[in-house]
Amino acid sequence: MSLLIAGTMAFDAIETPFGKTDKIIGGSATYAAWSASHFTQPIKQISIIGGDFPESEIEALKNRGVSFEGVDVRADEKSFFWSGRYHMDMNTRDTLVTDLNVLEKFDPELPESYQDCEFLMLGNLMPSLQQKIISQLRNRPKLIIMDTMNFWMDIAMDDLKATIKMVDVLMVNDGEARQLSNEYSLVKAAQKIMAMGPKFLIIKKGEHGALLFHGSHVLFSPALPLEEVFDPTGASDTSAGGFIGHLVRTKDISFNKMKTAIIIGSEMDSFVVEKFGHARLTEITTADISHRLNYFVDLVNFDIDLI
Ligand code: AMP
Repeated sequence: MSLLIAGTMAFDAIETPFGKTDKIIGGSATYAAWSASHFTQPIKQISIIGGDFPESEIEALKNRGVSFEGVDVRADEKSFFWSGRYHMDMNTRDTLVTDLNVLEKFDPELPESYQDCEFLMLGNLMPSLQQKIISQLRNRPKLIIMDTMNFWMDIAMDDLKATIKMVDVLMVNDGEARQLSNEYSLVKAAQKIMAMGPKFLIIKKGEHGALLFHGSHVLFSPALPLEEVFDPTGASDTSAGGFIGHLVRTKDISFNKMKTAIIIGSEMDSFVVEKFGHARLTEITTADISHRLNYFVDLVNFDIDLI
């Protein structure tokens, strides 16, 4: 079993109402790989970085079983840079800067050793590139999950819709689901989006949890009410990494298994938001993950008597 993760590896600068960072490590594929590596290894990474991407981060990821054979390193160029500012509710943010840098030249070529992958996670990336990665795989993976963002809906909607058609699970937030479907009701939005191709849809609602749709079924996963949320950046990539990591580990892609996978995704989110950037994902242990899972069980577990 192996997992291929594609997406950005980047520098981010983040402002929240409670603090601010200069350039720190970010990127959709970085968050996803750190998160998934707690559940499955090896991971085959597809991305592009500049010579400025720290060697220490590359080594740390390699130590977590992440292969860099598919990472294009452009020594004389700069890595992708993104900067964002969160509003007081920490659920919404404005993008301040998107400097594509090396991403403008990204033309992914899958190494031969990546051909055996059975699970593919397409992190946030230009939809045309996500499509190119799928089409290079000689055998279609058992499961393809895709994340995206409003940025691509604004500038590449046609490409995005063509890519969505090719995947099994789409992950978007509530605002993006509404933008993609032109529906305010998330139930109606989910039906319209699933009609575009994916059999499963995850709609993330920040501190209000996430919904997993499949046909006429819907499952709610809570987000853990935390005393302090420091930085929500990377939450969707982190939960996607936890979600797919759990499925790869259990080798089961049934709807029932996805119900637990989405809880694992929400749990990984509850860690990543506790510090700026991906720091928490690099510190936590299997024991921490297992311990925190009990809070999720308690959160939704109740006895009820009607009379
Ligand atoms: P998330 O908070 O999960 O939506 O993802 C934030 C991460 O996505 C950041 O670490 C950014 O580096 C990365 N990112 C931001 N904009 C883009 C974009 N247009 N394409 C790909 N990755 C992006």
